[in-house]
Amino acid sequence: MLLLGGTGEAAALAARLAGDARIDVISSLAGRTRTPADIPGRVRTGGFGGTNGLAKYLAAEKIDLLIDATHPYAATMPHAAAEACAQAGVPRLRLLRPSWPQQQGDSWIAATGLATAAAQLPDVAKRVFLTTGQRDLDAFASLTDIWFLIRLIEPPDSIPLEHYQVILDRGPFHAESEIALLREHRIEAVVSKNSGGIATYGKIAAARGLGLPVIMIERPPQPEGQAVETIDACVSWLHAQLG
Ligand code: NAP
Repeated sequence: MLLLGGTGEAAALAARLAGDARIDVISSLAGRTRTPADIPGRVRTGGFGGTNGLAKYLAAEKIDLLIDATHPYAATMPHAAAEACAQAGVPRLRLLRPSWPQQQGDSWIAATGLATAAAQLPDVAKRVFLTTGQRDLDAFASLTDIWFLIRLIEPPDSIPLEHYQVILDRGPFHAESEIALLREHRIEAVVSKNSGGIATYGKIAAARGLGLPVIMIERPPQPEGQAVETIDACVSWLHAQLG
């Protein structure tokens, strides 16, 4: 089985399947982080070279099943996986954690993408907490009147912004410490993806607690096909596939 990863759920699923002699799991990472979390079992790293490259890989490794557990904001890989699996006749399941629902007291401003979020920011705040990830910072480069607090997992190669501070930290993050962080830096708004899960929800709860707006970037569209929300559901699907 090929397990497309880069998320906590993918690592947890690999750990869950590690002792199952019926399934030989290959976990796949894009290779974005220099020090990825430990993943039990066989791990490969780097892109496949698009849909055709992935289709060749499926054939070369005799892959029978694929679980796509990439991040909800991975915009390319799920579509390549859907096409390559359709071509190769390999059953595919998407593991997609549910979005955070908006709650009473939340002040969310919907943005269809990074560019829209950047265009909205000048009307909203001068001091902003940005947690979208290093590769997404370019979208905010023209906002030279705004000061950004940027949280990343690893030291960045470069930051394309004028006024900013970088903090390095790996979740989970809890609401209490997020409230303290937002207060310390006098943050007026948060820009976030709707990642779902508990590990990064603290900033959303913190913004609600402090009455701050959150510019919430919408998820990219997913390919058609069977999708589940939990690791348990993935395991049930696998057992059904194994018969
Ligand atoms: P993406 O736009 O869907 O992928 C870009 C390219 O990276 C793909 O075309 C593929 O290259 C390669 N790739 C992506 N996931 C891969 C995997 N699991 N194994 C092998 N190659 C992979 O995704 P992204 O937003 O750049 O994210 C890259 C990775 O970071 C994903 O694994 C994702 O789960 C993880 N991640 C993303 C976010 C986010 O906010 N986007 C957050 C946390 C973690 P080829 O075309 O050469 O095959």
